Order: sequence, then C-alpha cells, then structure tokens
Amino acid sequence: MILKDYSRIEKAVDLQILKNAHIVGVGDGGAYGLYDAIARSGIGKLTVLDFDEVDESNIVRQGFLTGDIGEKKVIAQGTHLKKVNSGLKYQGITKNFLTMTDEELDSIFSEASILLFLTDSFKAQSFGNLLALKYNKPAIWAGYYEKSHCAEIVFIIPGVTPGCFRCAVSPRYEAQINSKEEIKASSASNTMFHSMLLDSYIGMLMLAILHNKTEGFEFSNWFGNYWDRNLIQIKVNPQYGNEPDSLFSRTFAQAGGRVFNFNAVWQKIEPEIPPKYKICPDCEGSLYTDNLASKSYIEATRLGFPNKKKPEKFIPTLGSPKSWNHGKS
Ligand SMILES: [Zn+2]
Repeated sequence: MILKDYSRIEKAVDLQILKNAHIVGVGDGGAYGLYDAIARSGIGKLTVLDFDEVDESNIVRQGFLTGDIGEKKVIAQGTHLKKVNSGLKYQGITKNFLTMTDEELDSIFSEASILLFLTDSFKAQSFGNLLALKYNKPAIWAGYYEKSHCAEIVFIIPGVTPGCFRCAVSPRYEAQINSKEEIKASSASNTMFHSMLLDSYIGMLMLAILHNKTEGFEFSNWFGNYWDRNLIQIKVNPQYGNEPDSLFSRTFAQAGGRVFNFNAVWQKIEPEIPPKYKICPDCEGSLYTDNLASKSYIEATRLGFPNKKKPEKFIPTLGSPKSWNHGKS
C-alpha cells in the first residue's frame, strides 16, 4: 500500500521536501529501525548499502525476522519496507562501497539529499567523509563507543558547519594511522534499545538538516546559517563520564551531585587549520567557504578561514580505498 495520509505529521515536516528527498545510508544493522521510520515518514527515495547477510545474532538487536536469516540484509530490509510503504523508491546495494569505481560512486552519491554513515568500520566512516566532501552533501555519522556506555554523532552541513567529520574526530585518525589493526568499537554490549535510541537521534537530525532552510515546521531552522556544535555525545550509562576531568562531569558540574543521564552534549568543532592545528587533509578547512561571501572580513578572520575554494580534486588520504582490506563487520 502507498501511504497517502500524512495528516498527523504535517505540522512537523514539509511533506514536499520529504517526497523529493533521497536518503543514502551506508550500513544496515542497528539502522534497520531508522530505515523503517524513513519509509513511514513519506521520504521519496532510500538507498541502503550493506554487503552482509542476516544471521541469528542480528535478530536480537536489529529489526530483522528469523525468516530473513541467510538473506542479504538490504534485500530483507527492502521486502519489509515494501510492506510498510510501497510508495518508497528503495534500492538495496550489496556491493562494498570501498571497492566501487568513481562511476559507481557517482551514480549512488551524487544525487543524494543527505548521506548517513552507520557502520562500525573506521575505514567506511572515514571514506564517507571524503564522499560527503567530494559531493558537497550534508552527512551524519553515528555509532556507539566501546561497551555502549556512550554514543556519538557527527554531522556536517556544507556552508553551515565549519568542521568536517575528520576535524571532529582527528585523534581517532591519528590512532588509526599509528595502528596496524582497524579501529572498531565492539558492539557486544549493544541491545535493541541502544539501536532504537540512536536511530531516533539520527532521524531527528536528518529531518532538521532537510528542513534547515525552511520556515514554519517543527524541524525548521534548527541550525541557521552557522552551526559549529556538530559533535554530539550521548551518555547512556549513569556511570559513564563521572570522573572529575571528563566531558560529562565538567558539563554537569552545577548539578550538585545529581546524576544526569540520557543527555547529549553538543561539542564545538573547529575546522582544523593552522596555526592551532595541522591542516585537515580532507577538508582543508574549506567546508564553510561557501558562506564566506556573506561574512564580514573580521568575522571570517575570527573564524580563521583561509579564503579559498573547496579542493577541486578528490584525493583519498588513507591510501586508495581499493587497497583497503575491509573486514566483515
Ligand atoms: Zn576537516
């Protein structure tokens, strides 16, 4: 059945914007429920990439059914989404995007409205940054830290957020460069409820990004023309981050011993450019230059943006993605 009655959400969202939107998601696991919600929300087009098959361990904490075991995740997902809303144009891609040609990447990513990188693979997440910058797309990265005590979301909106994904998590890039093994957070403590919690945050941000330039809807104008609080950390275990020097204990120091939990701290991300930082090899601090014309000289100087255009050539900095040995996630 094609869903047509959106009367219960019409004040929250611009139905026409959603109908015209094309969401591209990399990773289909914990995000199963997110894609389900996307299908219910009247979004026109969804493309999901994942090369894994459903196995029994997935049933416990993802939305797949026992009858899906052995099926490619994106195929099982598509079968389900058709039952939710056959009006959704859905494409499931089982090829690893790290091994795709430029033409294949162009055909998938260049027409997207927003990109979602929802894998536990650092290689995939970092390659996603290069794609978001290459195609000049808004994008969201999300996942849990080790033991699932805390979740992290980074998002970028070209022309609005000054720093890119790499600027936001540059210490992780350093750690990866100095490590022989791929950095991965174990998902062994991650229950269905962890997935649902994070999916909701991602979905809300996705709607806000799609509506950022609109007026009059619940999701309108969350970020305006400039927004640098684009690294979000979500505390999901009351014992997490209570050490005196941690982000959460500093943020909630005024709480007088009350425990804050299920809270998110939105951290400021600066574009990594000299003199304060080594230059970010991915964005070179250029993500915000689209907007420089509308900024005064003093403001632009204060923000520290070199007055230059986006890099024209797409140069992967972690070696060619084709040479990466992408393990099964
Ligand atoms: Zn950057």
